[in-house]
Amino acid sequence: MTHRILVTDEVALSGLYPIVDDDAFSVVSIDDSASAEFVSALVEADALIVRSATTVTRDMIGLAPNLRAVGRAGVGVDNVDIPAASERGIAVFNAPGGNTIAAAELTMALLLSVARRVPAADASLRSGQWDRAVFKGVELRGKTLGLIGAGRIGGEVAIRCRAFGMDVVVHDPYLSPERADELGARLVTLDDVLARADFISIHVPLTDETRGICGFEAIAKMKPTVFIVNASRGGVVDEEALAAALRDGLIAGAALDVYETEPLPDESPLRDAPNLVLTPHLGASTAEAQVGVATEVADKIKNLLTSGDGSEAINAGALG
Ligand code: NAD
Repeated sequence: MTHRILVTDEVALSGLYPIVDDDAFSVVSIDDSASAEFVSALVEADALIVRSATTVTRDMIGLAPNLRAVGRAGVGVDNVDIPAASERGIAVFNAPGGNTIAAAELTMALLLSVARRVPAADASLRSGQWDRAVFKGVELRGKTLGLIGAGRIGGEVAIRCRAFGMDVVVHDPYLSPERADELGARLVTLDDVLARADFISIHVPLTDETRGICGFEAIAKMKPTVFIVNASRGGVVDEEALAAALRDGLIAGAALDVYETEPLPDESPLRDAPNLVLTPHLGASTAEAQVGVATEVADKIKNLLTSGDGSEAINAGALG
């Protein structure tokens, strides 16, 4: 029996080799999920793979009587109606590991950009200046990195910052002391991270516990020379508090990849805050990560369709 897989949203086909190279699967890629062609392929599909452009609604699921799996080639699954999928016994998979290195490397780029003021120096030179004195930076070597969250991405950042000669302290209530040791990092309280760090990098999910974890109160406990980087989730940093701290010189600088509202609104106070590097949610935007997340969901869907193993589904508990 051939399993029919429908792929949309320009998912990197080269990453889908676990199913493309297997005769047990027929893979159809249709990038326009509003087209009639897509709808007729959906009626036949055993699995659907999307990125973020397509919203997998209850109505869409209703059009697919054979559907057993939805794969999101990426982390967030806000674009999949998980309750509707669970009611039908459809497994929903995401790919949290495929973009770990991409996000860790972007974090390093942001740390170095803000410490050496690369974007501001570039803009200055392009505007006709040759102003070296104002762009004196600071080194990472010998400084303390304070990590808030050291799972997949935070762990990779710790390893890279150790290679830059930094001391690493971590606040992560769910991290084992053994893992902290492996990373060459010391587990400390959140207040310790805030007070000790020269650079703070945040790598947590957005939860009730982490929302606003970097706000007015936390910033007041930091060194005035600290740099803050957030490439995790918008909402973890209180943007009003950060913009005010930058304007008032309470911290040395910051870099953000993610925002409370995306795209960043025109009226955001971040747009004219000084010593701030902004990127438009580029953490997973590498060629390698797009291939990596495609392979991760392809493997999980293959497991489900060939051996019935749905244990890695994010709604596994609801599948029975
Ligand atoms: P992960 O689940 O591997 O790690 C998250 C870590 O946060 C865990 O170790 C967990 O114990 C810790 N944590 C949870 N609550 C905490 C708290 N209250 N205080 C301190 N630590 C806490 O996740 P990951 O793959 O490392 O991803 C980290 C974040 O980066 C996620 O929010 C993810 O969505 C985001 N992300 C962003 C991009 C991007 O494009 N910028 C790309 C990939 C991932």
